[in-house]
Order: sequence, then structure tokens, then C-alpha cells
Amino acid sequence: MTSLSNAQNGAPQPLNASKLIYTFTDSPRDVPDPAIACTGKETICTDHMILATWNAHTGWSAPELKPYGPLTLMPTASCLHYATECFEGLKAYRGYDGKLRVFRTEHNAARLQMSANRISLPFVDSKELQQLIYALISVDGSKWLPKSRAGDFLYLRPTLIGTQPSLGVQAPQSAMLYIIMGYMPRVDSVPGRMKLLTSPDNLVRSWVGGFGYAKVGANYGPSVLASQAASREGFHQTLWLYGEDGECTEAGGSNFFVVWLRKDGKKELVTAPLDDRLILDGVTRRSCLELAKERLSDELEITERKFTINEIIDAAADGRLLESFSAGTAWFITPVSHIRHREHDIKIPMGVHGESGEVTGKIKGFLSNIMYGRVQHPWAAVVPERTT
Ligand SMILES: *Cc1c(COP(=O)(O)O)cnc(C)c1O
Repeated sequence: MTSLSNAQNGAPQPLNASKLIYTFTDSPRDVPDPAIACTGKETICTDHMILATWNAHTGWSAPELKPYGPLTLMPTASCLHYATECFEGLKAYRGYDGKLRVFRTEHNAARLQMSANRISLPFVDSKELQQLIYALISVDGSKWLPKSRAGDFLYLRPTLIGTQPSLGVQAPQSAMLYIIMGYMPRVDSVPGRMKLLTSPDNLVRSWVGGFGYAKVGANYGPSVLASQAASREGFHQTLWLYGEDGECTEAGGSNFFVVWLRKDGKKELVTAPLDDRLILDGVTRRSCLELAKERLSDELEITERKFTINEIIDAAADGRLLESFSAGTAWFITPVSHIRHREHDIKIPMGVHGESGEVTGKIKGFLSNIMYGRVQHPWAAVVPERTT
């Protein structure tokens, strides 16, 4: 009642996870066999989703946890015409100790706010969003990621869309937040390792003054043209270059790292900087840099700076190119074995066991130990599970 009268008094309601309304499904679905969970044409999601609506006058509705299913939108909804859509991607990890964990969700929540702001969507309180993420994991985690699947994960997709049914280009006066959770393939150990094809001269992913730093759907649809071309030639992802000099920015939807010996003989871990706002501030990227600085700084320098494809070609020619990997939630830490740029084929060493370079392997180990509870670490939070 208080919330209703407040709304009538004209104060828009903030998002409030403690008002979550639970409507459980009466037709629970079977959990697919892990071997086929990701082989179909449709992403298999869990039994439930979370949904909250917003409008500029009343603010946020009480969020609802309800059966997974279609959304209702008017054909004029802003997101369908003007790409007023942003999203997050994170995982719930089933630990080797049987517990469910999430990783640094405060960064995902902060990033959703930043992305929403870039496309004039409403403010989503990060604490409340995290509580809603926890609630969904807590309800569906035990069944869809059972204790028998230690070392496995579910993928969560918080999504914010503009729903105002108006063809005028304007800041949406209504919006919808929803969170879904489902299966995504494990892609961090592709046979033969990840192969990247550089973007063609006539395509860029982002540009200075644009929105490459925001996790908005508008960055993705137009990138598929390049990834299809890469895929036709047997490559997994596009290495997006920028500018006259061919600065290396990102590898598909992941951040991109190189380990090399500089000309002065120093070993360096390098990745593109955030300051020109071309690339996404990945949670995995940030974690790689922080862990490397904390644990590997006596063996290498850790640098965020612009670097070009020609520097990689030169390093490879001199035998100074040591390792490369892509880093993101979906692809986790995936060693890169091969980059093709125009007529240059750059082969990257894969370490003594042929799996990954040494630095790549160490960073991947540090992170997966945290995510899957092999070590206790403040970056991983245990999510309590609801048992019904
Ligand atoms: C999501 C994303 C990443 C990786 O970010 P994480 O937080 O590590 O998952 C990198 N680049 C782009 C373009 C992305 O959309």
C-alpha cells in the first residue's frame, strides 16, 4: 500500500528487490543432458525469469520472478526501432566444493548503469540488480546446475529495453528490465585454439566519440558481417583494428591480450587502454590485469596502451611474440594460436604442452580457482540456494 500511495503522490519508485513477487511455474521443464544443452538453435533457459517494468511517472514496478516465456511488446516499442537496448553477461559457477558462486557482479551492475545512461534508459540501482540476480540463481540454480556438475556454469543475461510505444526518437518514457539464465557452450578450449582474422579496412566496431565502451546491442548486430567472413575462412573471431595504424582493440566480444618481449628485452603483458572509450571495460580484463599486477609483476610488465597489428607482426618476425589470449565472460580465457592480417599469417606459440602459453595458463588458473571455489577469494560470492 505504501508503494502505491507514494506512486500516487508522484514520487517515482526506485527498483526494490525486496518487493520481489514469486510466481513459480506449474510446468517445470526437464534439464537437458549437458552434451546437448547447447547444440540446438535456441538457447535453453531455466524455468524462471525476473522482470520489472519502469515508467517515467511511477518509476519501477515491483519485480516479478515468473515462468520463463515470451515478452509482450508493442510493434512500436523503442528498442525495436532505435536500439534502446543494453545488457550484461555473467555466469553462475558450480564450485568443486558444491557451492554456487558469482564473480564480481558489482562491476556488471555498474556497467549496466553506464550502458543504460549512454542510450537514455533509466537508472537501475546496482545493489537491487545484484539482489535480483541472486534471487534467480537461488531459485533455479540447484535444479539447472546441480551439484553433480562441479566445474560447470550457467550464463545470465540481465537486459534493459526501451518499451515506449512511440515512433518518435526520444528518451523512452517506459522500459523493461529482465534477467534470464541459460546454457552457453564452453568455448575456452576450442580444438586448435582460437584463430583471429583482422577486421577489413572498410569496417570498424567502434570509433572515438561512439559507444564501443557500452554493452549495447547496437554494437553487435553490425559486427556479424565481419564474423561471418572470418568464419567462412575458418577463423573464430574478428580482431577489430582501429585507425590508420591498425590499433588492436578487441577480439570479437572479448578483450585482447598479448605477451611479448619488448625491443628492450623486457617481457610485457599488454592490452588496449580504456581512455579513448573504444573498447569495453571487461570484468575479466580488469581481473587479469589486477591479478597479473599482484602475482606476476616480478616476471613481466603489465601495460595498458595502444599497440598495433604491425607491432605484433614485427614481434613475431623477431621471435619476440610469446603468447596471446582473449578474455571475457563468454570465452573466458582463450589462448589465441593464429592471427591473419591481410597477407600475414602470424603463428603464436602454445607453450610446452601445446595448450597455452605460461602467463595465459597462470592467469586462467588463478581465475578459475576463484570462480569454482578452489580458493576462497573476495571476488567470488556464494549464492544461497533455495531448496523446495
Ligand atoms: C562483454 C564484452 C567483453 C567482456 O567483458 P566481460 O565483463 O569480461 O565479460 C569484451 N568486449 C565486448 C565488446 C563485450 O561486449
